Amino acid sequence: METTQLQICIGCGSCKENCPQGIIIKGTPFKIQEEHCLDCGTCYEKCVHDAIEHNY
Ligand code: SF4
Ligand code: SF4
Repeated sequence: METTQLQICIGCGSCKENCPQGIIIKGTPFKIQEEHCLDCGTCYEKCVHDAIEHNY
């Protein structure tokens, strides 16, 4: 699953715009509804601030 890190997320919204599931919610930090995540990795790839972590 993917998780966002509070210390690093700048709230740019790139992850939310690119999530095919539409499960990322605006906030501080942006929050992934992990129970609906497909682990596609798109948000991870689109976050240019390395604020999203893969946790397998
Ligand atoms: S793409 Fe990264 S920095 Fe931008 S809102 Fe998402 S987690 Fe935060
Ligand atoms: S891994 Fe894919 S489905 Fe899961 S939150 Fe990121 S973009 Fe959305």
